[in-house]
Amino acid sequence: MSDRKLETGVFVFSWDFELAWGFHDLDSLPARFHAFDSRSYIGEIVDILERNDVSSTWGTVGHLLLEECRQNGDYPHSNLLVPRKDWYNSDPCTNVREDPLWYASDLINRLRSCKSNQEIGSHTFSHVTTRVDDEVLTCELEQCQKLAQDGEMRTFISPRHGDVPVSLLADTGYSSYRAPSKTPAISRVAKFYTGIGGPKTAVPTRESNGVWRHPVSTYFFYNPIHRLQQKLPQIKRRWFESGIKRAISNNEVFHVWAHPHNFIGNDNAIEQFDWLISRISELQKEGLIKSMTMSQLTEQMNDNIY
Ligand SMILES: [Zn+2]
Ligand SMILES: [Zn+2]
Repeated sequence: MSDRKLETGVFVFSWDFELAWGFHDLDSLPARFHAFDSRSYIGEIVDILERNDVSSTWGTVGHLLLEECRQNGDYPHSNLLVPRKDWYNSDPCTNVREDPLWYASDLINRLRSCKSNQEIGSHTFSHVTTRVDDEVLTCELEQCQKLAQDGEMRTFISPRHGDVPVSLLADTGYSSYRAPSKTPAISRVAKFYTGIGGPKTAVPTRESNGVWRHPVSTYFFYNPIHRLQQKLPQIKRRWFESGIKRAISNNEVFHVWAHPHNFIGNDNAIEQFDWLISRISELQKEGLIKSMTMSQLTEQMNDNIY
């Protein structure tokens, strides 16, 4: 087995795509969900990615692949295992026109038809955390496979950055996952004051069962960098530039993640995103960095092993 180096720097952007499902087990939806159209940001995000020929990976709550659902039995989705009895209490059992925060077949079609590669991965079927019983999690992972197109569902992004059950992923047809993002507070403080460091870059590693672990470099809205950018917009660009530079000079992966709903009420976020994606596009044209989906990167890593 030879080394697993990459031939260029790689840029990965991954999304936790959940709309209302990210909050259905909490007391109520955040107020901003009612005040803004969270879907409109997704259209803008995909347009920017398409215009710049940049790929990304959408860890999607499987229920969003549906156009509609109906109550079947005593409660919605009664054919599926649930973490607790009231799990689907918020499911409206209607359709994408009536309840567009609970269904997103139209957005999934937009992602599939995007001219730059937009991967549909799994964020479980109903946003269960990975603390549930293995049987429930297996059922959720399999349900995503059933709803997806052939060979489409290969990447897993864990809700709320929970620990990843790697053996279950292998058993249910997934070949990569995003490693949970956990940055010790002290290093954030250190970065804040010193301005050195910048986001880490890395190369995915292969688990013993053949599933690939993709480490994250930074959250798009990483604090304190994000908080500072209102007064010093260049600080956020510098943060991204240092990750990009490191990926290019080490032939490693600069992996950024966000939720689409993080853009709600965040002044300048779309402009910043546009800037980052345009920058990647320029460097990609020069052959210095390649934007890839997580499963494209996994395929390339598999090809490079021997
Ligand atoms: Zn439903
Ligand atoms: Zn989530």
